[in-house]
Amino acid sequence: MIGQLIFDNRFVQELPADSEAENYRRQVMQACYSFVSPTKVSSPTVVAYSTEMADTLGFTEQDCQSGQFAKVFVGNEVLEGMQPYAMCYGGHQFGHWAGQLGDGRAINLGEVVNAEKQRWALQLKGAGPTPYSRTADGLAVLRSSVREFLCSEAMYHLGVPTTRALSLILTGEEVVRDMFYDGRPKAELGAVVCRVAPSFIRFGSFQIFSSRGEVDLLRKFVDYTIRTDFAYLLKQSEPLGKEVYIKWFEQVCKLTAEMIVHWQRVGFVHGVMNTDNMSIMGLTIDYGPYGWLDDYNPDWTPNTTDAGERRYRYGQQPQMALWNLVQLANAIYPLIGEAEPLQQALNVYNHTFDKGWNRMMANKLGFKEFNLDTDTELCQELLALLAEVETDMTIFYRKLAVFEVESVVGCFTDEQLLEPISEAWYRLDALTEDYKVRFAVWIRKYILRLQNEAVLQVDKVKQMNRVNPKYVLRNYLAQLAIDKAEQGDFSMINELLEVMRNPYDEQLEHAQYAVKRPEWARHKAGCSKLSCSS
Ligand code: AMP
Ligand code: MG
Repeated sequence: MIGQLIFDNRFVQELPADSEAENYRRQVMQACYSFVSPTKVSSPTVVAYSTEMADTLGFTEQDCQSGQFAKVFVGNEVLEGMQPYAMCYGGHQFGHWAGQLGDGRAINLGEVVNAEKQRWALQLKGAGPTPYSRTADGLAVLRSSVREFLCSEAMYHLGVPTTRALSLILTGEEVVRDMFYDGRPKAELGAVVCRVAPSFIRFGSFQIFSSRGEVDLLRKFVDYTIRTDFAYLLKQSEPLGKEVYIKWFEQVCKLTAEMIVHWQRVGFVHGVMNTDNMSIMGLTIDYGPYGWLDDYNPDWTPNTTDAGERRYRYGQQPQMALWNLVQLANAIYPLIGEAEPLQQALNVYNHTFDKGWNRMMANKLGFKEFNLDTDTELCQELLALLAEVETDMTIFYRKLAVFEVESVVGCFTDEQLLEPISEAWYRLDALTEDYKVRFAVWIRKYILRLQNEAVLQVDKVKQMNRVNPKYVLRNYLAQLAIDKAEQGDFSMINELLEVMRNPYDEQLEHAQYAVKRPEWARHKAGCSKLSCSS
């Protein structure tokens, strides 16, 4: 029952609030958050909800279909026990310190403790202005909300650490957006997503206090974070202090590295890896102009705002995460007072990433172990081949599983070796004879490498299909669902939600969602490029 949720709002109970109660844009000093109420809207309509997330919170189907669900998760009804607030944080945007940012259009409702005693913070995105809204309106449009809702749940089912989404609700209000900042503003449908996560704390949450010299507050905030979300690092009655802080930072480095390995595995490009969009728990957070690689192109970013520098391109995500961790290290430096242990913790990032990447590639290719002597080169050769001509990343790895461990390479012609993966190429006429020869050479090497380990074909296929998804939330698929939703047809949102529940399964009845990006989507807005406007 929605009304019976149990709240335990540690964030507001343990951390200092902004003393100003009025909701107007301002710099908020010496405080971690401001109390603020969601803005009421005229006619909430539930577009979709995640049954898994609902279930985790203890809601039945009936609860989710009730009028109260729509009211509560659009922000029209504040339940007893909720204490709505917006967080204060700062951040580096595209490499530059931007000062105070904060929850400009996110309002936290409180922390639910569910039947399993898990703590889940609920947050409405697009529920109206807060003191941190700066020059913007605090609202969100349907298109970006569909993208956030679907991708959060798709990532969860792919096994990528992420914030979750409970619901997607139309507000009944219009929101004006200039999607490509080209002076052509348009009225769009307003929507609110209820996001759910153990914590919404970001790197920028620590940076803001440090940048202002609010060291006591910084310490309080770090202590709070460790006690609440990293309690497993603490030995019994261990006092908090330098040693624990270092251990904690090391853990943040490790979790971040693991998250990035997952992004690289599934071909996810976040698009805006600013430090305010980096979760302290290593969760993927803030789904804005993100995208999925169709063709494997390490230089690709979906974000038009970043089109010049391509700072956050797929191939650079690992380095950017490290850059962000360096900023976090700088922010907590006042609590540590020496650089050396922080540097060592940053090395943990590199080490975890390298090891994780090798392991991930071994899994993707169907090897039991990553063999440093042979596999680094084999992977590099493969990635260079994939990038050389347009090759669909998802289809390629999925198809790679068909190569038989028992094959006798000498029995096959080049054509025969290339046939199983040919579906992954976007333009067969772009393949030169030389390229085909080189790829066939690689496949021969690959099959021989498979034979170095005693693995059964069936086991290998199973292993590969557990890490190489058949279904990802391709950019054009999300866009098709949005186009329909804007016409009042929400069926494709729910269909995609359903397909993305089992991304590693064949689901032959849904095979149309596993095909390459169609030609019409190559340059279409929303399918290949997106802006921060949302
Ligand atoms: P982002 O890069 O989208 O994560 O957003 C950067 C900052 O801008 C954050 O502080 C957001 O809360 C804020 N922001 C983004 N869109 C809006 C909006 N429509 N209204 C108010 N604040 C916003
Ligand atoms: Mg953000």
